Amino acid sequence: MRRTGKVRKHINIPIFVVHMGCPNQCVFCDQRLISGTSSFSEETVRGKIEEVLATVPPNAEVEIAFFGGSFTGIDRDLMIRLLDTAEEYVKAGKVQGIRLSTRPDYISEEILESLSRYTVREVELGVQSISDTVLTASKRGHTAADTYRAFDLLRAAGIPFGGQMMIGLPSATVESEIRTAEEICAAGASSCRVYPTAVFHGTELAEMTERGEYLPLTLTDAVERMWRVLDVFDRHGVVCLRAGLCESDNMHDTDTFLAGVNHPAVGELARSALMAERIEENLSSLSESLCGSSIVIEVAKGAASLAAGQHRANTLRFLERYGIKNLKILEKDGIIGYNNIISILSP
Ligand code: SF4
Repeated sequence: MRRTGKVRKHINIPIFVVHMGCPNQCVFCDQRLISGTSSFSEETVRGKIEEVLATVPPNAEVEIAFFGGSFTGIDRDLMIRLLDTAEEYVKAGKVQGIRLSTRPDYISEEILESLSRYTVREVELGVQSISDTVLTASKRGHTAADTYRAFDLLRAAGIPFGGQMMIGLPSATVESEIRTAEEICAAGASSCRVYPTAVFHGTELAEMTERGEYLPLTLTDAVERMWRVLDVFDRHGVVCLRAGLCESDNMHDTDTFLAGVNHPAVGELARSALMAERIEENLSSLSESLCGSSIVIEVAKGAASLAAGQHRANTLRFLERYGIKNLKILEKDGIIGYNNIISILSP
């Protein structure tokens, strides 16, 4: 999923296979809350697929996405039945493929052999962190070695994969998060998702928070730490499918959400902060003084508002810091990611 400029609209038909087959209890996890549903019913799968298909615009690229974090760990017969169902839609030309999310320790040669019989276009691996210290503190129930093994097996099987990671896990640092992003890129991932850690009532992380053993992320921290890993992914050409929270009304329900970040635009704020950093890098490398000048900053299609920042915060920062008189931000074809081109119109 490397970027090639214009792409077809991508639509996932998400099927949340909630907590089934997962014997773990990561300290942060309450899958029932995160997916917004407390049970999984196989009988509803076709209805859900049909419901979304009825709304799909022409020419969209559609995938049936088995999310929930442990798809290859669920009952094997059920997994195969769900894949069979999804594959029927692929064969009928109604969807283009299947994606699924799973844990690194639920990848084996035998599982990949099963998956290879279907049109699985991407396996999203819940890496979360590549640091054993963080994995242990988060009670993930697997080690970094499992993750590296999963990367190797997926590469050997020729199945494209992405890496999901979290910001602000217990014992995590900016350095461990950047290293996680770097290792996901180095493994050959084609996509990533980056989630800030949220604390839900009823989880072990909630107890750790209440005991003062865990300090929840502030919005400022989350934005800062997220843009740093987005920077790594972008520089490696790894597409970010999502930066921010999982979609769920529960994030704003005080009965379920205890602490951490639940700002709906945290991902946009992080992207905007990264854009500001990249522009700043460019501005500060210019040899001429920008004081009193008029400049144009060209950015990728759709990125002008990210570049300007929320309430034009980035624009105002550049104007003030460099004494720029006029600043225009324009979108231009051919610019990719967070790259930008600066032109000085007048001294
Ligand atoms: S592996 Fe962890 S995050 Fe995934 S479903 Fe199980 S407990 Fe939740």
